[in-house]
Amino acid sequence: MAKRNRDGYGTRAFRRQAAVLRRRTKREDLPCAWCGGHIDTNLPATDPMSFTADHPDSLANGGRLYGQQLEPMHRRCNSLKSDSQETEIWVAS
Ligand SMILES: [Zn+2]
Repeated sequence: MAKRNRDGYGTRAFRRQAAVLRRRTKREDLPCAWCGGHIDTNLPATDPMSFTADHPDSLANGGRLYGQQLEPMHRRCNSLKSDSQETEIWVAS
């Protein structure tokens, strides 16, 4: 599998940020930013309906890995949003 994060910079910070969002999604029942549906944060990362943290600005389009507002999204919806987004990082559950 291709390396998902091109330069590796900020990965740790991103994971921390994503973990915070994951807890918020669970606590506040935040909907998927793409389809508006409920996200079950207990699903394994391999599940298409599992939680992912999405960057509104795609990294492929010059978005920064860290310092962006992340949005909760289903894994399925995240890949529907853009198949060309090769730099997404899934959060292990
Ligand atoms: Zn969704």
